Amino acid sequence: MAGSFYRVECPDCENEQIVFGKAATTVNCAVCGHQLAQPTGGEAILEGEVTETVEAR
Ligand SMILES: [Zn+2]
Repeated sequence: MAGSFYRVECPDCENEQIVFGKAATTVNCAVCGHQLAQPTGGEAILEGEVTETVEAR
């Protein structure tokens, strides 16, 4: 079963970044280093606003 990708806007610097919904590792903002995704073993906890959901096909 494939997961989804999300476009997440960083709450600190408004950088938009694509994050895998089931990220297995912590994902940090490429610009300021703010943590955007925290792995849980399933769906990652996303910080910041999801501006777009990109369904995997
Ligand atoms: Zn940032």
